[in-house]
Amino acid sequence: METMGGVIAALATDVGRVRAHNEDAGLITSDLVAVADGMGGHAAGEVASGLAVEALREVGESAGSGEAGGLRPKDVLDAVQAANRAILQSVARNPEQTGMATTLAGLARVTVGGSPHWAVFNIGDSRVYRVVDGRLTQVSTDHSEVAELVSLGLLTPQEALVHPARNIVTRCLGREPLEPVDSWVFPPHAGERFLLCTDGLTNELRDPTIARILGDGDDPQAIADRLVAAAVDAGGRDNVTVVVVLGSPVADAGASHEADEETAPRNGSPEGSA
Ligand code: CA
Repeated sequence: METMGGVIAALATDVGRVRAHNEDAGLITSDLVAVADGMGGHAAGEVASGLAVEALREVGESAGSGEAGGLRPKDVLDAVQAANRAILQSVARNPEQTGMATTLAGLARVTVGGSPHWAVFNIGDSRVYRVVDGRLTQVSTDHSEVAELVSLGLLTPQEALVHPARNIVTRCLGREPLEPVDSWVFPPHAGERFLLCTDGLTNELRDPTIARILGDGDDPQAIADRLVAAAVDAGGRDNVTVVVVLGSPVADAGASHEADEETAPRNGSPEGSA
């Protein structure tokens, strides 16, 4: 368990019961947390996910040094671009890594209009969930074949859970040019919680189970460990990685100032910025 700029965060990961390698990666820094789900043969998947989170570590830790202003949303998206470049450069040096890729889903503390906000960003099918006043919602949008079919009305969400194409992502890091990254910026809310997870969690556990575990107790490490253990118990057919973030009981004082309208869409309006 580590602190993340006044909130507390914890990471848990498990290889699961079937896979030989854990190709997931997770990151907690002072101002940014993330999970990544690597893809690629010959262990290249874990290289891709590892490079992605290491590229984010630099920006997440530099912001925690007490500099006035902190991270801006643009810094976060620049870091995602740096992560993409790091993967492509590794492939250029190591041809056996050709095709390796990773999802990336993250949460950062950013400053917008002088007040603290959250920035959520996502590429691929790892997820960011938020619990506010006991209600669990998925903040991120899945970039997956089944999510596209659901949005077109061709599949129900229930059918998507068991569809044979449920593991096919439509966007990922490791592609040139960088595919569109979705991001959302919104103010903090007292007592909120966040969960970042790879699909090894959400393919095993339904949302009501996730919500129950996420809301149980105030120890983020215990919550993270219980989520991963529940997914492994339910089958563990994939690597499972979670980051749990517990917001402060009282939202930052600065959050009471309404942020600039043009730069602070509330929860859930995708910018789709690349
Ligand atoms: Ca996975």
